Amino acid sequence: MLNGKNAIVTGGTRGIGLAVVRTFLHNGAKVALFGSREASVQRALTQLREEQPDWPVMGLWPDLTDYAAVERAVQEVAQTFGGVDILVNNAGISAREPLADYSPEAFRSIMDLNVTAVFHGCKAVEPIMRAAGKGCIINTSSMVSLYGQPSGVGYPTSKFAVNGLTRSLARELGRAGIRVNAVAPGVTRTDMVAALPQELVDRISAPIPLGRIGEPQEVANAYLFLASDLASYVTGEILSVDGAAQT
Ligand code: NAD
Repeated sequence: MLNGKNAIVTGGTRGIGLAVVRTFLHNGAKVALFGSREASVQRALTQLREEQPDWPVMGLWPDLTDYAAVERAVQEVAQTFGGVDILVNNAGISAREPLADYSPEAFRSIMDLNVTAVFHGCKAVEPIMRAAGKGCIINTSSMVSLYGQPSGVGYPTSKFAVNGLTRSLARELGRAGIRVNAVAPGVTRTDMVAALPQELVDRISAPIPLGRIGEPQEVANAYLFLASDLASYVTGEILSVDGAAQT
């Protein structure tokens, strides 16, 4: 589904991002994964090469909160692969602290990574995609971007902003042939969730209409659809993949 396409996936070293990287590679794309540290990037690359030695995958670890670093990394990928067709802005952190314990620094740092870094990625790929007359950006929102959550206010705030950025850039960049969408996962079995006791996972799952939490692959499939030509007329969409948890 992605033959001949070049993709960047931020936060591609584990969890949902790594599932997206693997899915894109399986579907014929060349993929550059961005992580926060060299060690975690190398670990992900080793893991992928053990699965399939000839997969066209590279890794970089720019500071996503520094625009110049993001621009340099995007240019390096464009030169290595011969362009960038797909950008997945997936790196993100969450928060749980009640307001009384929530420091202004923690609020700023979640906005820096979950929102400003997404803006940086979009801004860095836009001239490349505009010159090509086509491109696809997929941001990572969350089910909490619909109703908020009862603690850790920075996290839903950042994801509401991701939705606003997605819908606005879809309008701004449509005429350039660039589609901009987001995936809004529900609770997904990444490392953080895998570490929880089964009893707690069962409690989280109970109110979800599909009766369980999501698997990273099920979320990655939505990115594949949005990245592919099957979604050629889909833009400005926030696609929920949450078992109807919030509907
Ligand atoms: P994860 O913690 O397993 O992976 C996060 C990724 O982001 C890692 O690759 C990590 O290297 C990267 N990252 C973290 N801090 C970074 C930094 N400062 N600079 C650069 N990269 C950094 O997370 P996940 O659960 O796979 O989540 C991925 C995305 O999905 C996030 O945006 C998250 O908000 C969103 N999401 C996750 C869930 C869930 O239940 N797992 C639900 C809704 C939305």
